[in-house]
Amino acid sequence: EKISQYDFVIVGGGTSGLVVANRLSEMSDVTVAVIEAGDSVLNNSNVTSVTGYGRSFGTAIDWQYQTEDQKYAGGSKQIMRAGKAIGGTSTINGMSYTRAQNVQIDSWESLGNKGWNWQSLFPYYMKSEGFQVPTQDQISFGADYYSDYHGEHGPMKVGWPKFLTNSTVLPALDESFNHLGVPYNRDVNGGLMVGLTSHPNTIDSEANVRHDAARAYYWPYQSRPNLKIISNTHANRIIWGNDSDGDAVAIGVEVNNINGKQIIHASKEVILSAGSLKSPVLLELSGIGNPDILSKHDIPVKVNISAVGENLQDQTNNGLSYEGKEFWLGSPTFSALPSADQLYGENFYTVASNVNSSLADYAETIANSSNGALKASNLLAVFEVQWDLIFRSKVPFAEIVFLPIAHTFSVEYWPLLPFSRGSIHIKSADASEPAAINPNYFMFEQDLTTQSDVAWYIRKVFGTLPLADLVGDERSPGLEHVPENASDSTWNSWVKANYRSNFHPVGTASMLPRNKGGVVNADLKVYGTKNVRVIDASVLPYQLCGHLTSTLYAVAERASDLIKRRYTF
Ligand code: FAD
Repeated sequence: EKISQYDFVIVGGGTSGLVVANRLSEMSDVTVAVIEAGDSVLNNSNVTSVTGYGRSFGTAIDWQYQTEDQKYAGGSKQIMRAGKAIGGTSTINGMSYTRAQNVQIDSWESLGNKGWNWQSLFPYYMKSEGFQVPTQDQISFGADYYSDYHGEHGPMKVGWPKFLTNSTVLPALDESFNHLGVPYNRDVNGGLMVGLTSHPNTIDSEANVRHDAARAYYWPYQSRPNLKIISNTHANRIIWGNDSDGDAVAIGVEVNNINGKQIIHASKEVILSAGSLKSPVLLELSGIGNPDILSKHDIPVKVNISAVGENLQDQTNNGLSYEGKEFWLGSPTFSALPSADQLYGENFYTVASNVNSSLADYAETIANSSNGALKASNLLAVFEVQWDLIFRSKVPFAEIVFLPIAHTFSVEYWPLLPFSRGSIHIKSADASEPAAINPNYFMFEQDLTTQSDVAWYIRKVFGTLPLADLVGDERSPGLEHVPENASDSTWNSWVKANYRSNFHPVGTASMLPRNKGGVVNADLKVYGTKNVRVIDASVLPYQLCGHLTSTLYAVAERASDLIKRRYTF
């Protein structure tokens, strides 16, 4: 058996893992290894093309995780996509760069995560960002920004595609949304996200290629002698040494590759950055989790944390499309982020109070379906925060993405903060076996109703001048399937038959106090361990109103600083 030893061993060379690898290897006296199941995609044109969204779906670089049957959502399984490559999911994603609403990040601290708030995270959004000022051409097509919100010196290039959609659309959207009480937002990246916007993407504007985590954080630094990527290698589990002060001590990671099984030794820390659909699985395979689940698979309990793999939260995505009356060229980056009061108008108070009176039920139902792994009182505390964000702070309620391309005007949307919660757990002690992934889409009637309400609202938007003049017939769902005055149940059936995962799973190793359902503490260290952290989308305790990567880069940057402070004197 070959022995290899590093100070830090990072599992997963994806969006978050490569940030941590880069920053830790800035300490020249430590060694860093990254174990990555995938390979380089530097020259994969499905990845590099800025108009190639979707082309890598179903290929070898897509994990295409399959869910369990979704019993509240029509019964069928869903595919949850995730990148299997150096660069992780940032190599296959939609590239949208939008952060979060400031109060959402502040709520992390109020729930007990000391030091995590908008003010402390904002410098790290800036640190990770290499903002590229738009050209006059791009500005005339809608690119807009406040320079105070952007960092120009970070590794991750952020800007607009070279060719933006011709200018008829944005002014029309703006005027129509104005009639509906939704303002224009010049730059959603300063913590206030409500409105219509033309957001930037993670793109190298000059070269006109996708800027993924590898292009930003790894390839320019690959010659560092203390940084090693071990690719095409699957991590199976953490290897433990003797406990210290009652805490579990990781000494390495068992991996599998073409050379067979071996152990990569870690003398300082093991950091799990395998994504929210893998890091909790690795914890369970390593003996950290719910004893009831571990014992079913004869895995000895190293640390009893029953919340591992619970709290799985995703959003649900549906699309509509219209016949276009113009011919549109270029890449659209238009989104509307209306708040609940803007979307519901005079029904706002009714919806707010209905949801409020259901929160205790939601908490109870989820606690029961977790077989006691989560406590209803903890869930209720989080739901109250969520309700406050939606109905009091009035953060964005849904994202509506406008895609006018050629002769078709399509729209995709997702409500941002659903209440449904699911789980992910191992089905076997064999690390090569898939896990049971159950997001419990539309577990609550409210989430389904919301999904339909937003579709109904989008129809209203397309019926509002001047946007209404840019489109002809609705092609999907189409009035023949969902008539003008369709009942709620007609809309709901359409939603269930056509929705998909929004590919934003979070929460499966939540950062929260241990007695409130947390798996990691505010240093992102796994409870009951001396030297194991999780740094990826698993730690976000609940959904955000932005797309995830911008916040994941910022979280990984801040976490890296927290680690470095421990090891530099
Ligand atoms: P990942 O980036 O997925 O990294 C995990 C890494 O670990 C991967 O490289 C994986 O191969 C590796 N790995 C997993 N298991 C093992 C193992 N056992 N051994 C070794 N390696 C392992 N976000 C945005 O900001 N904007 C968007 O427009 C956007 N669109 C999206 C579109 C799609 C189709 C998808 C799937 C996601 C999208 N997202 C978007 C979400 C965002 O990309 C992800 O949330 C984010 O990249 C996740 O980062 P992560 O660090 O948690 O994990």
